[in-house]
Amino acid sequence: MTYKILVIGACGQIGSELTQKLRIIYGADNVIASDIKAPKEVSGPFEYLDVLDKEQIEVVIKKYDISDVYLMAAMLSVTAENFPDSAWDLNVNSLLNILSLAKQKKIRKVFWPSSIAAFGKNTPKELTPQYTVMEPSTVYGISKQTGERWCEYFHERYGVDVRSIRYPGLISWSTPPGGGTTDYAVDIFYKALESGHYECFLSADTKMPMMYMEDAVDATINIMEAPKEKIKIRSSYNLSAISFTPSEIANEIRKYLPEFVISYLPDFRQKIADSWPSSIDDDRAREDWGWSHKFNLESMTRDVLKNLDKKCS
Ligand code: NAD
Repeated sequence: MTYKILVIGACGQIGSELTQKLRIIYGADNVIASDIKAPKEVSGPFEYLDVLDKEQIEVVIKKYDISDVYLMAAMLSVTAENFPDSAWDLNVNSLLNILSLAKQKKIRKVFWPSSIAAFGKNTPKELTPQYTVMEPSTVYGISKQTGERWCEYFHERYGVDVRSIRYPGLISWSTPPGGGTTDYAVDIFYKALESGHYECFLSADTKMPMMYMEDAVDATINIMEAPKEKIKIRSSYNLSAISFTPSEIANEIRKYLPEFVISYLPDFRQKIADSWPSSIDDDRAREDWGWSHKFNLESMTRDVLKNLDKKCS
């Protein structure tokens, strides 16, 4: 049986690469991309869809006989601090719309991403455990922590098959990031190639958990493909690959671009970064559904520079 997939927020940093990979695996016609903005390129069916409009979601679900939903629409950490009301509305009510459709059995399975932002300044910073103190201090983090509770609640109370990962900062070269605190780790590559200089909005030694997009997309599809009984955590799984500081990634880039210069001018984003973990313990994801990452700092840097060089030339 072929399941039909709906990706909501398919034009974003993750959604665009996730949609491409899902189309390779399941066939272009079985993966419906949707967003409130137009796609850069059309590689299969696309619908304009506002995730806050539940009736419109139902129409699309019916039209394509959708079984699985990947809910990628959200307002990210930095933007959310500027628009707290609409961030809360989008981040929480989008999830409640989808979970309630799953509760009514109109959807079979849901993926919804949480974030390391769900942790807070009283969380142990190194190798942050799966279960620990979570006191997020940003509206984005509070919305993710709330979302985790709703996912678990809908699973426990109504048997909804919802699966989730706490993504670390994600690094990609094909689609620009959407206003998060870890965006520096993408911008740095563009600036290194364009001008040979990057002014970083975080301090040199701010260590944060990060992951290459290819690994993040694989993790997302793997957790959705895992047999139901293997998914033992229904709030959200810790997920980890690499942790590095701005100065460490700059050193890695210098191996290929020796003239590259980085300077540091921390701004308000430093406070957000300081409230997040430095590294993550993701043993449960590895044990329960077999997660493992492929890219480390060296192989990721090599791959990003190679692809950006091709893209820009
Ligand atoms: P993004 O901002 O790049 O993309 C979000 C997409 O959602 C955009 O294309 C936007 O147009 C769309 N969207 C916004 N409002 C919408 C609405 N009302 N209806 C339909 N679509 C709407 O975000 P991303 O980086 O791709 O993140 C995807 C998910 O992953 C989010 O839940 C985010 O919190 C989470 N996440 C991302 C990162 C990261 O580093 N990128 C890290 C942790 C968690």
